[in-house]
Amino acid sequence: MTGEVVISVNNLTKQFGTFTAVDSINLDVYRGEIFGFIGANGAGKTTAMRMITGLLEPSSGEAIVAGFKVTQHPEQVKKRIGYMSQRFPLYEDLTVSENIEFFGGIYGLTDYQIETQMNLVLQELEMMHMRRTLVRELPLGWKQKLAFSTALLHGPEVVFLDEPTGGVDPITRRQFWDKMYKEADRGTTIFVTTHYMDEAEYCDRVSIMVDGQIIALDSPQNLKNQFRSDSMDEVFVKLARSAKRSDL
Ligand code: ATP
Repeated sequence: MTGEVVISVNNLTKQFGTFTAVDSINLDVYRGEIFGFIGANGAGKTTAMRMITGLLEPSSGEAIVAGFKVTQHPEQVKKRIGYMSQRFPLYEDLTVSENIEFFGGIYGLTDYQIETQMNLVLQELEMMHMRRTLVRELPLGWKQKLAFSTALLHGPEVVFLDEPTGGVDPITRRQFWDKMYKEADRGTTIFVTTHYMDEAEYCDRVSIMVDGQIIALDSPQNLKNQFRSDSMDEVFVKLARSAKRSDL
């Protein structure tokens, strides 16, 4: 895959004391691509993603997102990205529509834009009848779909999703991926971490991180060919077997 580079990561490193959580990683992600950021527990994915989105200062190296160096222009970057964190990112004590209003406000939308987006999102998710339901009362799959739409309210160029489908059933996960494909078709770049290797198969390209380093990066098909494997699960097990930080 080639095209316009929207995320460029160069020798990005994070040390916590003497421990190197992310060890000089490099990658480019293209416009409209679904990029899977894969690794075992503790590999360093969340730490890397937090540096790429400007939430955490790198020890060295840099990330450029939507044309801006993240450490130098964090505000410009924030305007152009959406972020769905691993822990459930909506307010449970607010209703569906209150969450949309709240996040629309944070993203700087006008009242008119919020109302327009609200109708679009609720129609697309078929949640119009749930607009006054407290988010805490929604099933997990619905919450996650709503959180994804909320991360897209301001029309970001890139959306970062940290294990967006954790804990939901396979059918709901598949529906979530259909939404991601639709969004990527509109030109949004999607950077997603997942533990589910069937989901790694759905990405345009994936990187595999072990003990803070990216040890493979390519399309799922090329990785399967390269590592003589029938599935991404097999590729992952072969590569992550050597990990010191995981219990594989
Ligand atoms: P998971 O999928 O479990 O979230 P991950 O790949 O996202 O794993 P990180 O959360 O980035 O991994 O953590 C990478 C390593 O860095 C882990 O060993 C973790 O304990 C360590 N780590 C993360 N944050 C800190 C911190 N603030 N201080 C010290 N160590 C940290």
